[in-house]
Amino acid sequence: RGSLTEAWQQVVAHAPDGLALRHDGTSTTAAELERAAETLAAALADRGVGPGDRVGVQLQNVPEVVMLMLALWRRGAAAVLLNPMYAGDELRHLVTDSGAVGLLVEASRHEEIAALVEGTDVAWLLTVGEGQAGPELDEEQDPEHDLATVLAAHDGRSAEPVAADHDTVALLTYTSGTTGPPKGAMNTHGNLLAVAATSAAVMHLTPADRVLAVAPLFHITGAVIDLATPLLAGAAVILPGRPTPDGAARLIREEAVTCTTGSITVFNGMDRLELPEDTFASVRCLHSGGAPVPPATVERFEQRHGVYIHNIYGMTETSSAVIAVPPGERAPVDATSGSLSIGKALPGVELRIVDPDGRPLPTGEPGELEIAGPAVVPGYWGKPEATAETFPGGRLRTGDGAIIDADGWVHIVDRLKDQINVSGYKVWPREVEDALLGHPAVHEAAVVGEPDDYSGERVVAHLTLAEGADVDADELIAFARERLARYKAPREVHLVEELPKTLTGKIQRRALRDGATRT
Ligand code: ATP
Ligand code: MG
Repeated sequence: RGSLTEAWQQVVAHAPDGLALRHDGTSTTAAELERAAETLAAALADRGVGPGDRVGVQLQNVPEVVMLMLALWRRGAAAVLLNPMYAGDELRHLVTDSGAVGLLVEASRHEEIAALVEGTDVAWLLTVGEGQAGPELDEEQDPEHDLATVLAAHDGRSAEPVAADHDTVALLTYTSGTTGPPKGAMNTHGNLLAVAATSAAVMHLTPADRVLAVAPLFHITGAVIDLATPLLAGAAVILPGRPTPDGAARLIREEAVTCTTGSITVFNGMDRLELPEDTFASVRCLHSGGAPVPPATVERFEQRHGVYIHNIYGMTETSSAVIAVPPGERAPVDATSGSLSIGKALPGVELRIVDPDGRPLPTGEPGELEIAGPAVVPGYWGKPEATAETFPGGRLRTGDGAIIDADGWVHIVDRLKDQINVSGYKVWPREVEDALLGHPAVHEAAVVGEPDDYSGERVVAHLTLAEGADVDADELIAFARERLARYKAPREVHLVEELPKTLTGKIQRRALRDGATRT
């Protein structure tokens, strides 16, 4: 029933000189990182941060995020992970919702954020990097805010350790907001220790590994799979700052990266670049999670770069990966829907397919995926009703429609909320999107149901086209009709410049339903 701090300190004791972080050509050993975390914990203690407190961090993938997490865990406090793209009301909402007492932010945004959080529980800000230049701000630039200065001032100090155990909240991570407003999942020390242990085992991580944190650290996958997992396995974490496909590809080659986990978008992005042939020479495991993985992408990537992308499935509420394609195995493609399996349950993860009343369904029947086990969070921060609804009896109702076959392979059919009802016939938008994506002119697809006087709902597709493609809506409707049952084919096709996405890059069908189409 130990804590993340105890697990990390064992790593440090075992190999103090082991490489923990690489960023911008600079190396940090385990002992150095530990010292920085201890110093920062002392500075936090001075600011009154203690058990149960929340502190926000709104930065890219930089070492200061890691230092803050380790320092907060020592104080029995939780890090609230905030997307650096958040500003204005969105940011204020999360700060208020989490009740954060302090924030660690980019120095260049100090003034903006200080003004924004007025009237919230935020009592202090710490900043990273260079502040805004300009004489009018000089007076305001208080060195008290600068993290490096604060660390120097506290050098050699340490705070009384605070007890934390499996049930202590380590992270407050907000869901992506794909189906509704983001909710704060309480990822505990126990949740993270469980996922880090199973993921490290699945990836066969050893201290010789070099893991690129290509998923954002403000997202659960980045924080757990690309950071906590390798750190606790004694492996090195390569931090790219803001992860981009070309930056990631360069680091993979230059830093001899062995494993990385990201979204399919980043792998697609890398695939579009002209890369040196030996780019992936050191890589032995690539994982993609967080969104559906098109089988064609995996195939093309392997053909061109010689590495098979392993699908993994996780949610903010499961502290990231709970289902993965086992090493050395290949995910089967479902014959009817054409979707790639997300893998098999990881050790300790209990899966069930249930009907709308929560009753288990027989093997092979589609229903809602339900997950239980040590990775599942105890609930949403400050939302007892949403918690009771989503976690009945501590089991997580995922909201994902899925099938589990006799061999344990799991297929995600689609989000249950997005199912379309055409005159009583059920249509899964994913199937329609996959059919449309089979047309070479189609770049991205989002299919939604819209109210219809005659059939209740009708199928409407919003598409972006590949560059230079010349095709009209009728031609695409005809294309879909050749491949799908009549009621599934879109009645309308809208060609748009851009599809609405969440800040993590997922297509937001609900924004299309709400009529927020951008043309
Ligand atoms: P919100 O809960 O706010 O609507 P969200 O569900 O997109 O947003 P996340 O927790 O980031 O927030 O994402 C989890 C969801 O992502 C899963 O429920 C599932 O629908 C989808 N997902 C994750 N991994 C995969 C995968 N490998 N294949 C298909 N879908 C996936
Ligand atoms: Mg969700």
